Amino acid sequence: MNVLVINCGSSSLKYQLLDMDTETVLAKGLAERIGIDGAVVVHQPAGKDKVKFEQPMETHKEALDIIMAALVDADHGVIKDLKEIDAVGHRTVHGAETFASSVVINDEVIKKMEDCSELAPLHNPANLIGIRACEELLPGVPMVGVFDTAFHQTMPAEAYIYPLPYEMYEKYRIRKYGFHGTSHRFVSLTAAELLGENIGNLKLISCHLGNGASVAAIRYGKCIDTSMGLTPLAGLEMGTRCGDIDPAIIPFLCDKGYTVDQVNTMMNKESGVLGVSGVSSDFRDVEAAAEAGNERAKLALDIFIYRVKTTIGAYVAAMDGVDGIIFTAGLGENSSKDRAAVCSGLKYLGIQLDEEKNSKRGEALVISTPDSRTKVMVIPTNEELMIARDTVELVG
Ligand code: AMP
Repeated sequence: MNVLVINCGSSSLKYQLLDMDTETVLAKGLAERIGIDGAVVVHQPAGKDKVKFEQPMETHKEALDIIMAALVDADHGVIKDLKEIDAVGHRTVHGAETFASSVVINDEVIKKMEDCSELAPLHNPANLIGIRACEELLPGVPMVGVFDTAFHQTMPAEAYIYPLPYEMYEKYRIRKYGFHGTSHRFVSLTAAELLGENIGNLKLISCHLGNGASVAAIRYGKCIDTSMGLTPLAGLEMGTRCGDIDPAIIPFLCDKGYTVDQVNTMMNKESGVLGVSGVSSDFRDVEAAAEAGNERAKLALDIFIYRVKTTIGAYVAAMDGVDGIIFTAGLGENSSKDRAAVCSGLKYLGIQLDEEKNSKRGEALVISTPDSRTKVMVIPTNEELMIARDTVELVG
């Protein structure tokens, strides 16, 4: 069964075509700058060179037209006919309380997704555009929506209700939702396989540390807390996002003359490691600057490590223990130094890292020593595969 996985942003569209009988990627690619000058599709058939299509694309449908033509092209195609696409899985950002798991998309689901758009105005409308474009181009092909928030819907109320007046939750649906759920779910399931244990017996803490970063407490396969909130701004320090700050800072800045929009932009785009270091939002640049003696770059990284560590500590308390800690995403998968820095403060969990294993890259691996009381793992995330697996399960 071939599944096309689509991840639509406001001006971009990522895709992967997977053969789910073997769970292999047949082709993948990215359309960028849709509706803007310089639009381009980069198409990568498995085992072959990348192909670039630089041509104007006004809409996501036009981008998908190019992608579909590339998929069946005589030279760089990987299927003969679009009929070989059996189903489409869509990454969808916000499912609010409506979607606690993945779902087959129909008109009623689309209507409910529109209702969730208020909570993710930058993301959900783009996801819906992708869904409509696929409906037109692949009529009759079943589609599945996989929500970033769904995995976190198992959190208990004490974890997700903010101590604001309760009507704020009832009237405006203000609560903690959490994000990166597809990634946290994928790596926690893979961790159980790696440890040879039933996920129903494990207490895991998953650290998705990329440009956006979040931690999740997963007890017996179910998320019971996570660090992002109503929006992906909450929790850890990130590339450009501030994470948790005293909420009173916002009216304080507004009293100083900043508009709400300015503060919002500051917190989302000008804060985090970029804001503290003044160097870059890319952790690699900040690490290079810190090594060259830049004190603010060092401080930005120290804050990051401190927050990851203290969030792990909070989740050990929330679960009354932990069996395994997982590192994933750009920094979590690639930076042995940062993993070691986080773990160096977790001796009370009986953690001992195997330095040689911690220095490896690109594979799912236990990086703690055999006698380490809490296991530590690096697991490359694969949200596309998780989306395709859900799609097969629902329509296969
Ligand atoms: P992601 O959002 O998951 O694509 O992750 C991107 C982030 O991972 C960027 O800020 C990169 O700087 C960071 N990253 C990737 N490789 C490394 C590395 N070897 N050391 C530190 N950070 C890294």
